[in-house]
Amino acid sequence: MAVTPNAHRLARRDFLAVGAAAAAVALFRHVPARAAASAGPASPALIEDLVAANRILADQGVVDGYGHVSARHDKDPTKYLLARSIAPELVSAEDILEFDLDSNPVEGRGRKLYLERFIHGEIYRSRPDVMAVVHHHSPAVIPFGVTKVPLRPIYHMAAFIETSLPVFEIRDTGGMTDLLVRTPELGRALARTLGDRPGVLMRGHGAAVVGASVPDAVGRCVFLQVNARMQAQAIALGGEVVYLDPEEARKLAPLSGYDRAWELWKRKAMAK
Ligand code: MN
Repeated sequence: MAVTPNAHRLARRDFLAVGAAAAAVALFRHVPARAAASAGPASPALIEDLVAANRILADQGVVDGYGHVSARHDKDPTKYLLARSIAPELVSAEDILEFDLDSNPVEGRGRKLYLERFIHGEIYRSRPDVMAVVHHHSPAVIPFGVTKVPLRPIYHMAAFIETSLPVFEIRDTGGMTDLLVRTPELGRALARTLGDRPGVLMRGHGAAVVGASVPDAVGRCVFLQVNARMQAQAIALGGEVVYLDPEEARKLAPLSGYDRAWELWKRKAMAK
């Protein structure tokens, strides 16, 4: 269909009006006027693993109605993939959105977003080795974030802890908050406390766990939770607890990856 001069003027006027409105909104919200360009579709295998990760973490009791898991985009290290705000057990491929490292959605499609997505963006920014991040509120790990008892590796499956996990005290950065990592500044502070470690406990809240792949991050969460439960049991028995020596932990490191468990967990979680 030919575009008449009149229609052209109308379209241009509409375009300018929309542009001005968008710029005003962007100024008001202090976000870039232009969303970051998409890295394009992620590998279907990665999306499949990310959907499975959500369901496995729910199946294993690491997350409940809350908590989230993300993966770095396989085509662009400055992007990551995370579901819209939804209970992990209900996540499917259509719920996965792309974010830049400022945790702005590349294309939000008006969907509600996780308030604490800055946990993911700021960890990906500070840790180029990290390919997946999980945030959860596992009740087993909370006690180790609110006492002076460090969470340490008690058995071989939790060797990745090596020594102990750091604890993020949100008051040091944010003072009295609602404990949620709802700003980039709090996300950066959390990433600083994480440092080069596999995970960080969040005082009175939960934990963030990272991995070199989606199965790696998920496996760490599962065994961190089991370890926390057993460590509390061992302490309750009384007497001295013998933890893994860091040297033993390092010798176990090549065994991580959780390939065998991953296939099992995935099949069980996806069959539901
Ligand atoms: Mn949380």
